[in-house]
Amino acid sequence: MSAPDSDLLSLNTATVRAQWKLPEIIAGCVRHNIRGIAPWRDQVAATGLNETAQRLGDAGLTVTGLCRGGMFPAIDREGRRSALDDNRRAVDEALALRARCLVLVVGGLPKDRSGSVVSKDLRGAREMVRDGIGELLQHAQSAGMPLAIEPLHPMYAADRACVNTLAQANALCDELAPNGKDGLGIAVDVYHVWWDPDLEAGIERAGAAERLFAYHICDWLVPTTDLLNDRGMMGDGVIDLPMIRRWMEAAGYRGMHEVEIFSAANWWKRDPDSVLATCKTRHEVCT
Ligand code: ZN
Repeated sequence: MSAPDSDLLSLNTATVRAQWKLPEIIAGCVRHNIRGIAPWRDQVAATGLNETAQRLGDAGLTVTGLCRGGMFPAIDREGRRSALDDNRRAVDEALALRARCLVLVVGGLPKDRSGSVVSKDLRGAREMVRDGIGELLQHAQSAGMPLAIEPLHPMYAADRACVNTLAQANALCDELAPNGKDGLGIAVDVYHVWWDPDLEAGIERAGAAERLFAYHICDWLVPTTDLLNDRGMMGDGVIDLPMIRRWMEAAGYRGMHEVEIFSAANWWKRDPDSVLATCKTRHEVCT
C-alpha cells in the first residue's frame, strides 16, 4: 500500500456548507493546505460563476468535480427536456471552473413539476437515465467535459438515483461510451457502494476501461440516524477505507480523495476550521 499522501486530499464543499459560503471554503482550503475542492452548483451560483472560477484559480485548487448534474427522469417530455437543458448548463459551468468531471446523480422515479414522485416504473426510470446521459454526452464530449456517473446507495433509488451499483454504472458506460477516454466514467463514493459484494470486481472493471473519474470518502455510522445527513468522518464508522483505496489504486486510479460528509447533527455544527483539520488528520490515519 502506498503511504497516505496529504496532497491527495480534496474537500467536497458539502462538508462545511452549513458553516461557510464558498469563498470562505476556498480560503479555508488554502489555510489548511488542502489542494483539491469539489463545489456544488448552488454555492457557485450564490458566489457567481466568474468570481468562483477566479477564486479557484487564484487559490491553485484542483477541482475534482462539480456537483452535480443528473436528475434525468421526469413524468413528461417537457420535464425531461428542461432537465437536459439544466444539465447542459452544468457542463458549461464545470468547464468554466476547469473541473475534472461533472458528477451525475442520475435521478430516481419520475417526478412531476412540483417534485413529487408520481410513478412506480423503476425500469422506465432507468431507461430515461440511459437516454438522458446519452443525449447529454454529445454536448459534454464536444465541450470536452467528462461525465462521472455516481451510483447511490439503494435507499435513494426512489428519489435520487436509480443507478445503485458499480455493475449498473459499468453497464451504462459500456453501452454509451465503452472507454473512459470518450468522456463517460464513474465516481466511486464509499458511502454508497461499500456494502456491495461485487465492489472489488466493479472497481477492477471500471479501471480496466479507464473510467474511474473520482473517489469520494467518508464513513458509514452504526447506527445511521438519517438517510441523507448522517455521514461519518473517516475512522468513525465501519467502512474498510484502506482496503477500498487499495482496490482503487490497483485498478489504476491516481486521482484525489474527496471528503464528502453531510452531517446535520455533528460536523455541520462544529467550528469549520476544526472540521478541515480533522479531515486532514483522518485522511492520513484512516484511509
Ligand atoms: Zn459522492
